[in-house]
Amino acid sequence: MSEHAMPVTDAVRKPDGDAAEEGLVLSGVRKSFGASEVVRGVDLRVARGEFIVVLGPSGCGKSTLLRMIAGLDDASAGEIRIGGKVVTHLPPRKRGCAMVFQNYALYPHLNVAGNIGYPLKVAGVPKAERAERVAEAARIVNLSDYLDRKPSQLSGGQRQRVAMARAIVRNPALFLFDEPLSNLDAKLRVQMRAEIRDLHQRIGVTSLFVTHDQVEAMTLADRIVVMNSGRIEQVGTPTEIYHRPASRYVASFVGTHP
Ligand code: ADP
Ligand code: MG
Repeated sequence: MSEHAMPVTDAVRKPDGDAAEEGLVLSGVRKSFGASEVVRGVDLRVARGEFIVVLGPSGCGKSTLLRMIAGLDDASAGEIRIGGKVVTHLPPRKRGCAMVFQNYALYPHLNVAGNIGYPLKVAGVPKAERAERVAEAARIVNLSDYLDRKPSQLSGGQRQRVAMARAIVRNPALFLFDEPLSNLDAKLRVQMRAEIRDLHQRIGVTSLFVTHDQVEAMTLADRIVVMNSGRIEQVGTPTEIYHRPASRYVASFVGTHP
């Protein structure tokens, strides 16, 4: 077992000094829907600033795991810490994470500035501060010249960047991505991967990116978490996962055999 997929007790009893370096810690996280348990005891330590990709087939529990971290679903058991703070029972808006979805649902009637600033408006941030933060977020994703456009006047890649700016504008401690590139055509997907990677290098926010696409995982991840039926099968760098898959299941995802 990797040191990052350690048992609950070790994960929880790390010395306090480590808290500042903690991006995300999951300890014994579980989720049942009725009689079926779809997340079956997940332990994971993510360092601050790390880019983690959770890789696994459709139905293995990736979205459910993400939704529990975001607070959109309650965990049936376990503890979730973000940036050293226990958030297991906090509402989504108090968790300090921002989620980028597959269909990034922009508001068609709002322009780019309105879309990016929407979460701040909801949070009651005063107009002047809002404008400043929107401008900064737009600058980060290279959309400064598009603030007046409506989503219908943007390309697919630009819309994706609006969605990212809308996440950035809240200064989250953690970015959660749920297969945000799945609906894009192949060429745009490659371009957006590079943009997400580049963005991460510039702002360095801890990120958890969920996908069933091995190439996406290999190109984006500092470390890959391979999931199988609600459990972590292996955690490692892309190189480790590629050269030393822990099982046939993992090998089947990265195209080699143990
Ligand atoms: P993935 O994102 O890896 O495709 P999900 O987390 O969406 O997987 O789903 C994992 C399993 O949990 C699936 O079998 C799915 O049908 C089930 N599931 C997800 N959400 C619910 C729900 N709200 N109620 C009942 N079952 C659910
Ligand atoms: Mg999913």
